[in-house]
Amino acid sequence: MIDLRSDTSTLPTEIMRDAMRNAEVGDDSRGEDPTVAKLEALSAQLTGKEAALFFCSGTMANIVAVLSQVKHGETVAVDQEAHIYETEFSIFSEEYFGRKARFIDSDTYGKPKLLSIQSLVANEDVKLLCLENTLGEYGGTCLTAEEIKDICAVAKKHQVPVHLDGARIFNAATYLNIPVADLVKPADSVMFCLSKGLGAPVGSMLCGTKEVIAKARETRKAIGGNMRQSGIVAAAGIIALQEASRIKEDHMNTQLLLHKINAQALLQIDPATVQTNFIKIDITATKLSAEECMNRLKTKGLLVETIGEDYLRLVLHKNVSSTQVNKAAEILNSFCKEMS
Ligand SMILES: *Cc1c(COP(=O)(O)O)cnc(C)c1O
Repeated sequence: MIDLRSDTSTLPTEIMRDAMRNAEVGDDSRGEDPTVAKLEALSAQLTGKEAALFFCSGTMANIVAVLSQVKHGETVAVDQEAHIYETEFSIFSEEYFGRKARFIDSDTYGKPKLLSIQSLVANEDVKLLCLENTLGEYGGTCLTAEEIKDICAVAKKHQVPVHLDGARIFNAATYLNIPVADLVKPADSVMFCLSKGLGAPVGSMLCGTKEVIAKARETRKAIGGNMRQSGIVAAAGIIALQEASRIKEDHMNTQLLLHKINAQALLQIDPATVQTNFIKIDITATKLSAEECMNRLKTKGLLVETIGEDYLRLVLHKNVSSTQVNKAAEILNSFCKEMS
């Protein structure tokens, strides 16, 4: 079975496992884990922020980022397709955290329209603007440094801080060929995942000003996110960051797969959306639902995910071999041949 569902299925390397075995640890809830401290310092440095905080997941890091900057009943400006709105729904649910949402109007590549940002941040009740990079639901597309800068400038004019969900910010920085720190510079806080393309088994980082991170530390504790000898997993995160430049191989493999899929009448791909390690496929021409396509591909030995009703998503990562890339293309092409 070839698994192109997500880069969350990446496996820790031998080097990571050795680092985990040998990690110096302590009770991190007392600030006594040197390996966690090292990972946090490295993350702050790579994102150009003052401080960083280690989380068990990106979901929790995003929740804490919002709760730390927005009070109950106040409003967050967010894209309706964003992970923060869709998956971190507890932020916006009355049953849980009770923050309100107003929606950003974005184009088909997920780029927020400046006019929409302008009108949102002009509202008194909007206390935080959330951006995502890469844009998962839009096929892993990127916001450029220039676009982020322009959006943040508008928010700043109205004293609205910006949180960037950069789960795959290393993919975006790789595509744009700039340091992560330059890309996230105008954002007040940024989250990124160690556990996706970077390949660590567990964990995400929240980076920002000393004040935001101090508040986030309190909030993390309040919702049960403190960990103890978490240096064991942080050790793998450090290796993941040191090896981050290998992400470009995932993007090369993604282009390779894109060019091997030769059935684009039925499986439509806008090549402009294939920027990072995702391929988003419009399946409407097959007259099947995305779920049916997914199930048929599964019977042929290829696991994919759906995006809504009309799209499939293929995700490349370090544990997909070039043989598997070739085989995945063959399966997709034979699927199309059967349909036509
Ligand atoms: C995966 C992801 C998250 C959450 O990370 P987890 O570690 O899976 O909880 C947040 N935002 C985006 C855009 C993601 O892709």
